[in-house]
Amino acid sequence: MEQSELSAQCTGQSMSHLQEVFPGHFLHRDVVDAYLPLVEQAAKEGIALRLASGFRSFERQLSIWNAKARGERPVVDSEGKPVAMAALSERDQVLAILRWSALPGASRHHWGSDMDVWDSAAVSDDYQLQLTPDEYAPGGPFYRCSLWLDGVIHRGETDFFRPYNGAKAGGVAAEPWHLSYRPLAAVCEKALTLEVLRKLIENTDICLQGAILDDLDEIYSRFITL
Ligand SMILES: [Zn+2]
Repeated sequence: MEQSELSAQCTGQSMSHLQEVFPGHFLHRDVVDAYLPLVEQAAKEGIALRLASGFRSFERQLSIWNAKARGERPVVDSEGKPVAMAALSERDQVLAILRWSALPGASRHHWGSDMDVWDSAAVSDDYQLQLTPDEYAPGGPFYRCSLWLDGVIHRGETDFFRPYNGAKAGGVAAEPWHLSYRPLAAVCEKALTLEVLRKLIENTDICLQGAILDDLDEIYSRFITL
């Protein structure tokens, strides 16, 4: 693959590698072949594994980022409590957004290798999915699904893994719903260099651009590399 196409794919600016797996939900075509058997395996345990979110474009991530920076979307801390953004320095605003939202260009959801999953068999049809830690913790509706995923991953029965397991202090909060297809993600991780990202942010109309660029080295090592 050409370097420029790989850079475009790993920053969410190309859809040429994707396949629509369900209406409106896209994954890399190699990942579809690995995901569907996992869904079948889950079904045998009474778990209806569903995709909340697969591929997300750069433009979409940029609109989420800018809405949070402008106060049009809430920013919450790692416990889910609202953050008073106006009281923070620009640097701290950037860090607060990064707790739950990736920097545009640096979301693993750009790759088509990563997805958020839930269990539709564990809740009623009108359930409003939140994707919060409580839902996947003991007592939560998706705890059983989460334990099942733990087992499948631990036993090496799948090439999916959880990149955000909360093990990295000071980085992205734990996301038990987030799965990543390792063979493809490994390629994207390598392609998404600090320089690729810097060039992209420099050429993007993004809120808090100066603060992002000032701290990009730290952001990259804290929030982007695992
Ligand atoms: Zn995710």
